[in-house]
Amino acid sequence: MERRLITIRGIVQGVGFRPFVYELAVRFDLTGFVKNQAGGVEIEVEGDTGSLNSFLTELSAKPPPWARIESLDWRPRPTRGDRDFRIGPSEVARDGPIFISPDVATCADCLKELFDPADRRFRYPFLNCTSCGPRLTIVTGAPYDRSRTSMAAFTMCPACQSEYDDPGNRRFHAQPTCCTVCGPRLRVLDGQGHSIATDDPLAFFAASLRAGRLGALKGLGGYHLACDARNAVAVAELRKRKHRDEKPFALMVRDDVAAEGMAEIEPAERELLLSSRRPIVLLRKRHPSPVAAEVAPRNPFLGVMLPYTPLHHLLLREVDAPLVMTSGNRSDEPIAYVDDDAVKRLAGIADLFLVHDRPIQVRCDDSVTRIVNGIEMPLRRSRGYAPSSISLPMSCPVPILAVGGQMKGTLTLGRDHHAFMSHHLGDLDHFDAYRSFLSDTALYEHLFAIRPMVLVHDLHPDYASTRYARQRCEKERLEALAIQHHHAHMASCMAEHGLVEPVIGVSFDGSGRGTDGAIWGGEFLVGDYGHFRRAAHLRYVGLPGGDQAVREPWRMALAHLLDATGSGDLLENRIAKLAFRTVRQMIERGINTPLTSSAGRLFDAVAALVGIRDYVNFEGQAAMELEWSAADTVSDGAYSWEVERESVNHSLLIDTRPIIRGVVADIRASTHSSKIARRFHETMIEMIVGVCRQIRHEAGINVVVLSGGVFMNVLLVSGCLERLRGEGFRAYRQQRVPCNDGGLSLGQMAIAMFRHGSGGGR
Ligand code: ZN
Ligand code: ZN
Ligand code: FE
Repeated sequence: MERRLITIRGIVQGVGFRPFVYELAVRFDLTGFVKNQAGGVEIEVEGDTGSLNSFLTELSAKPPPWARIESLDWRPRPTRGDRDFRIGPSEVARDGPIFISPDVATCADCLKELFDPADRRFRYPFLNCTSCGPRLTIVTGAPYDRSRTSMAAFTMCPACQSEYDDPGNRRFHAQPTCCTVCGPRLRVLDGQGHSIATDDPLAFFAASLRAGRLGALKGLGGYHLACDARNAVAVAELRKRKHRDEKPFALMVRDDVAAEGMAEIEPAERELLLSSRRPIVLLRKRHPSPVAAEVAPRNPFLGVMLPYTPLHHLLLREVDAPLVMTSGNRSDEPIAYVDDDAVKRLAGIADLFLVHDRPIQVRCDDSVTRIVNGIEMPLRRSRGYAPSSISLPMSCPVPILAVGGQMKGTLTLGRDHHAFMSHHLGDLDHFDAYRSFLSDTALYEHLFAIRPMVLVHDLHPDYASTRYARQRCEKERLEALAIQHHHAHMASCMAEHGLVEPVIGVSFDGSGRGTDGAIWGGEFLVGDYGHFRRAAHLRYVGLPGGDQAVREPWRMALAHLLDATGSGDLLENRIAKLAFRTVRQMIERGINTPLTSSAGRLFDAVAALVGIRDYVNFEGQAAMELEWSAADTVSDGAYSWEVERESVNHSLLIDTRPIIRGVVADIRASTHSSKIARRFHETMIEMIVGVCRQIRHEAGINVVVLSGGVFMNVLLVSGCLERLRGEGFRAYRQQRVPCNDGGLSLGQMAIAMFRHGSGGGR
């Protein structure tokens, strides 16, 4: 006889791990116990050596589907002669990393019950089990137990309790389990928040949507606004009330067959749609489509997701139509998730509300992603993904918090070689988003039991996240570490691919504060986590009016025109006289016109020049439309570009003026705008590859990472990867975290860990 203490870390709570251990121990005739502890589970088993070995093998070989074992260690213990195998109570205080599961979409077993008239949970919108249901969005503390979730207030009925206590049941220790008798209930409210009396709130709500009304419903991580996506009037009304002009709405459809009716679906896309993470997947629209054009105007793609809670499944069947499912907010505010606040904020948008009494603890938007060349390209990493840990290629004993940027905020907590990246926090210039940033930071530190000693932030002094980090460091006497924006983008891509060697980091985005005080955004960096130098960058031009130039791409077009040709004639008759003259003077005199090397703004400028649009409703809209236009035609050449060496710091300066002159010549020759768009994309690809070639020649570095929001451009990123690889480079793009500013905090973390930890070794 022998006894062993086994410690397992990873996502092993809330995924049916203890019942699995129990079943295994009983099968091998072992005695002892298993219990949750913060960070994992602890098992003590006693039996003969052969059985113990088999137990260990099976344990790591066939864990439950959603479990993720990060580490498994064991050591001998004196035998105790237990009589049976038990599931012990959870332990709270423990040292070491903690892993918390993301929310998991309703599993097949639960779905079967949901639509089985004989089942006691028939049509119950909150059923779940150990393999599915809410996780992150209901937790209030660790370890993950019912008392530390928003289900704490619901006392289980005898039937649920007996399932919960039965190791053979698939709801054994399913923390949020409940039923019609003991769990949360639905209610419908009118537009003012008054209860509407009805026997069947769900059917009432569904009928209202079918009748063309706008509804708000409480989901997993926040409120959604919903309407019938086939109904052009309803969709247009939703745009009007939400103050959202053209940004596409996401859709929810009942299953992948319904999705197929409106979009083309590749196998990898179907897999992603059906995955337990259930993100919004960008799919190519079909024509004609059952969906109203107003859902995603002028956009060749549709953002589609499948139901991920029982409530969604019931609603989609009842409505029997594709639904617009967009975050419950007014324009760019953060999504509403607290009941009273939601009703207050959404009154005037929603005609009625479908609500329930299970509180949402963590505000968590839907994730947005797509497949490019068979591999995922995340655009927003949130529900279903966060807060899964990402393993870093370095280890650091010092606990660290990285606060990210200003837009598309995320935070990352780090310890050892684990990075815990948060859900999407939104744009921190919204006060509500900033408030959530504060509370989510506190929550994550509490959940993961990490008290940071170092706070990492962007170099930009005016980002809300930077100010937060600096103030807190001062108050709590912590170390602050400022990381250059594009270095963080580069490190983010390196980190997710486990790269430790020096790389060429092509960081192309809208804007980020440079070490020289200018606004960078078209950068070729050389270095690693420890250091970088700016090996090449796009030529500086004026950014007339700062943020105003982001909303009005014609301003960038004018800045580039004047820079390249000395004349603004091409735009003059399109733009209001006064505005044109003012901006021209701003550029010429350098008034409120900082310098920028932004690649994103160069795309904007070309989009405006060719007449795609002079004003945008959201950042990147013009550049995106330029990409779609280019994708419509075949490649037939490129514009020229030049490189010179800067005398001051010997970096390469990429002269964009010949590109603009080429574009202007094509416009004057009445070349079709999509041809120009294509030639411009071709130019950017050739330029990126050419500059990388020159850097490789000089620095002997053969690895390229592509990061920054500009690389959400599929034509650009695919073209670059293909050409770079064709020339023998090892080239990478981001596929686990977004290449936009949503991925910054991971890069910041990797750099800080490298500087504080053991460097390359794990
Ligand atoms: Zn289930
Ligand atoms: Zn019950
Ligand atoms: Fe950026």
